Amino acid sequence: MSQCDGPECTEALQKLYLFIDHELEDASCEQIQAHIDNCRDCLTEYEIDVLVKALLSRSCSETAPPPLRERVLLSIRTVHVEFREQAD
Ligand SMILES: [Zn+2]
Repeated sequence: MSQCDGPECTEALQKLYLFIDHELEDASCEQIQAHIDNCRDCLTEYEIDVLVKALLSRSCSETAPPPLRERVLLSIRTVHVEFREQAD
């Protein structure tokens, strides 16, 4: 059975993703940091989440499509070229 079921743990785990994404205000950040420093279970959760996030962001950047703006510009240019070829 997990020891990580107290109210502090629940709160820490709920905010873990925000904490990892640095989207928490400083006060909450310090609270989570202090908690995972003292709570093995939450520290493990934290480490797993960081690992998963790192893996996800790596695989995302490898297969990332070109930015939408570039794709839109490219398709506009393609349509424009086709139109001119037909006109000639
Ligand atoms: Zn905990």
